[in-house]
Amino acid sequence: MKKEEKDEYDKTYGLFKFKRPLPSEIESAMGLVGESILFKKLISADYERFYDPIKIPEEGDWLMTHKEYGQTYNEYIQKDCYQVDPNHNVIYIHRISSNDDLIKDELFHNVITLLEAFFIGMKVYLIDEGNSNYINNNNENNIENSNENNIENNIENNGENNIENNNNNENNNENNIENNNNQNNDNNDNKQSNESNEKIPINADQLLEKLKLEMPEDAYCLFGIIDNDIYTETLLPNGKRLIKATYGKRSVPDRVSIFSLARFDPFFNFNGKIKNLSKEQKYKISLILLKRVCSAITREICYMFGMKNCTFMSCCMNGTNVAEFDNKQIELCPICLRKLITNIRANGEDIKTYRVKKPLIVYNRFVRMRDALENFSGLYENELKWFDARIEFLKTLI
Ligand SMILES: [Zn+2]
Repeated sequence: MKKEEKDEYDKTYGLFKFKRPLPSEIESAMGLVGESILFKKLISADYERFYDPIKIPEEGDWLMTHKEYGQTYNEYIQKDCYQVDPNHNVIYIHRISSNDDLIKDELFHNVITLLEAFFIGMKVYLIDEGNSNYINNNNENNIENSNENNIENNIENNGENNIENNNNNENNNENNIENNNNQNNDNNDNKQSNESNEKIPINADQLLEKLKLEMPEDAYCLFGIIDNDIYTETLLPNGKRLIKATYGKRSVPDRVSIFSLARFDPFFNFNGKIKNLSKEQKYKISLILLKRVCSAITREICYMFGMKNCTFMSCCMNGTNVAEFDNKQIELCPICLRKLITNIRANGEDIKTYRVKKPLIVYNRFVRMRDALENFSGLYENELKWFDARIEFLKTLI
């Protein structure tokens, strides 16, 4: 490597001095030693031509303010992986709010098809039984109760912090989807009401506890999705309660996650009221939301497999602030794909010694992903071109 090139790699970015990984570090992170030649090719052939390097972090990006170690394939297998086994191999998506205000049913079913392709070999079931068990029981613990307490910050500040408006907001660093510490709600402007056009924010911790109890026997993981706004509540040392609105909350050891669509909605209204929108506006929102949901849900489920934020290449597992979310790619980089495929294929065998015995699953997954993305009527045009090119290239190697 020439000196100028080496100097570029030595540059550091952000608070924690992030450095771009060297090509040798990327290849080592793939950990392809001991695999069949065909598997190696299907995962990594010509990867520099097909996969983008990790984006150089800029002001406001996740990597400027968060320390990330990067998880190699070997680290994943040795210590982080939650292994799939044949008796627990179903991904359950529990849509708690069954009304289709935000995403139409027919579009939501495309998400399920995409998940079946993304997590090829796993079953994906949708539970869609309405929200009554979740919302009514939370009334006793709603934002109204918080009026008695001092809650830090107020909704005026947070009003600007939605996904649409935050693109150039430097103060957005804490406002990410990763650590769920997004925004603080104000009790005064966010009072619960019985008016039918308002949605009650729900306690995310309680939702998560309920979902844990509902885990079906054959579940690998359970992912709850709701269109009410959700919040977490912390008791501070001074006895006050801190309430923070959040996008989601997860428990990786329990493999349960709850995720709110509310703040993914470009028209999210911080006073809880639903805006009257035309049919056309609603449809447009559906599409924006749909893309955000697909990115969020695939990544959340990857976390349930023990995968961590990717720092090697441009990848759906890159740490992401809200403003970066809409530019996020839907596909995994070769390192993360290698982790996922090995776990799914091992299916109960000793993963530390497992070698992928039917490598064509990698190729088949690309085809399934391409077909699933085609259902989204033009929403993934660039991605489709990428999958077509990758598939054509891999065909020549098989
Ligand atoms: Zn990756």
